[in-house]
Amino acid sequence: MAKIQAIRGMNDILPAQTPTWQYLERTVRTLLHSYGYSEIRMPVVEQTELFKRSIGEVTDIVEKEMYTFEDRNGDSLTLRPEGTAGCVRAAEEHGLLFNQTRKLWYTGPMFRYERPQKGRYRQFHQIGVECFGMTGPDIDAELLIMTARLWRALGLADNARLEINSLGTAEARKQFRDALVSYLSQYRDKLDEDSRRRLDSNPLRILDSKDANTQALLADAPALADFLDDDSKAHFERLKVLLDNAGVSYTVNPRLVRGLDYYGKTVFEWITESLGAQGTICAGGRYDGLVEQLGGRSTPAVGFAMGVERLILLLETLELVPAEVNDDADIYLLAMGERAEQQLLVLAESLRDALPGRSVVTHCGGGSFKSQMKKADRSGARLALIIGDNELDNGVVTVKPLRGGEQLEVPLANLSNTITEAFDNA
Ligand code: ATP
Ligand code: MG
Repeated sequence: MAKIQAIRGMNDILPAQTPTWQYLERTVRTLLHSYGYSEIRMPVVEQTELFKRSIGEVTDIVEKEMYTFEDRNGDSLTLRPEGTAGCVRAAEEHGLLFNQTRKLWYTGPMFRYERPQKGRYRQFHQIGVECFGMTGPDIDAELLIMTARLWRALGLADNARLEINSLGTAEARKQFRDALVSYLSQYRDKLDEDSRRRLDSNPLRILDSKDANTQALLADAPALADFLDDDSKAHFERLKVLLDNAGVSYTVNPRLVRGLDYYGKTVFEWITESLGAQGTICAGGRYDGLVEQLGGRSTPAVGFAMGVERLILLLETLELVPAEVNDDADIYLLAMGERAEQQLLVLAESLRDALPGRSVVTHCGGGSFKSQMKKADRSGARLALIIGDNELDNGVVTVKPLRGGEQLEVPLANLSNTITEAFDNA
């Protein structure tokens, strides 16, 4: 029978890769804790309406990328394409937003029906951060300062650059949209196909068209910055000062608009040049209108999402994963003879008690001494511990260093001390 394979664009994350994932997750967790964030976990499936109402009907995600299906009772459900909508829904539903501030984060799989390629998958993972109840640019700045710290912690600081922009209020964007549409309408025939379609549906998205002709036409187009309201302008200026003060460099990209409808005022992207076309590793912005749009009380909000696969790719490409990030064993225990075999599991348990945090692997399944030693070596352990009749009779264990060093016979009572010293001196 033909073997069933994984769905295109949905990846298995294999044992050889999970240590890197855990390292990234651990680093992010520690960072977020140090800035006072709490984790929230939402379902992977939500009502389709939630995404339509928040992300926007005429966005790439809602028009082309969602995995939508009917539940057995006829409800339209969707695998979440991003986390913000569900986070707002959950926080609102459980009264976490009214009259208070919240700093939340989440991680997990997201689903988008896109053309799979390097850095772009149909199931991918995001680490998202959402802050509620804070109006000023200080929290926008802190989010960016925090991400800059993360890049330093991961060794990526030289490989990620920050672009920022302000989208202003909905009213400012509406005026700009009208001006942009009347300017671009003169050149309708020269626009690429996507942009021509967007001219009627979502003209702001034309700004980030990759088409060279369209980009050339945009050079003389009206600029969003000229339509910004005073409040948004002041917010953006203060954000820049806060970033300057913190030593976070950025460029202002007046064409940066982001593909989701809910953003206003600050938007940003962290981009790397080391991954080719899929270079955005973290993206976000302010979405002060969304909570109200989803039926809650008006609540200012700002957040971002990082693409985990892209970050992992970047760490691997730049060889930035520390050598100690692996699933190697520390100690491999093996027994020769039936009496010793009967004692092996108990010895391993006592070592796990004495050496918390160490990876102690017991050889199970028998085999010759030679084949057991081969497995010990392959486990990556630094030490093999061997017991046989001789060791049992004398109350000792043979400690055999696998990465250089002298073999020793160690009395059981000294065993954990000897091991601790071996690791300390390594
Ligand atoms: P892009 O322009 O690359 O399509 P996007 O604007 O659609 O990105 P967001 O919705 O802002 O992306 O998601 C935030 C981050 O999640 C992106 O910057 C990226 O790192 C990651 N991401 C988005 N879509 C995918 C995908 N299909 N596969 C892998 N990572 C993704
Ligand atoms: Mg996209």
